[in-house]
Amino acid sequence: MTTENREKRAAVCENCNAVCAVWCRPDGEIVPISSTTGCDCEERALRVVDALETPDGD
Ligand SMILES: [Zn+2]
Repeated sequence: MTTENREKRAAVCENCNAVCAVWCRPDGEIVPISSTTGCDCEERALRVVDALETPDGD
């Protein structure tokens, strides 16, 4: 597999408090891993959180 400089993180939407798994890229861009984030906001305010347990945390 190709190694990419991105990290799997958890993020929370500061608008609706929905939590989702995201890729955190070196340029600061936050990209939801799944198309289903649980957030329905037109303009998401995703904030990466570090100390959050993820179901498949590795
Ligand atoms: Zn939201």
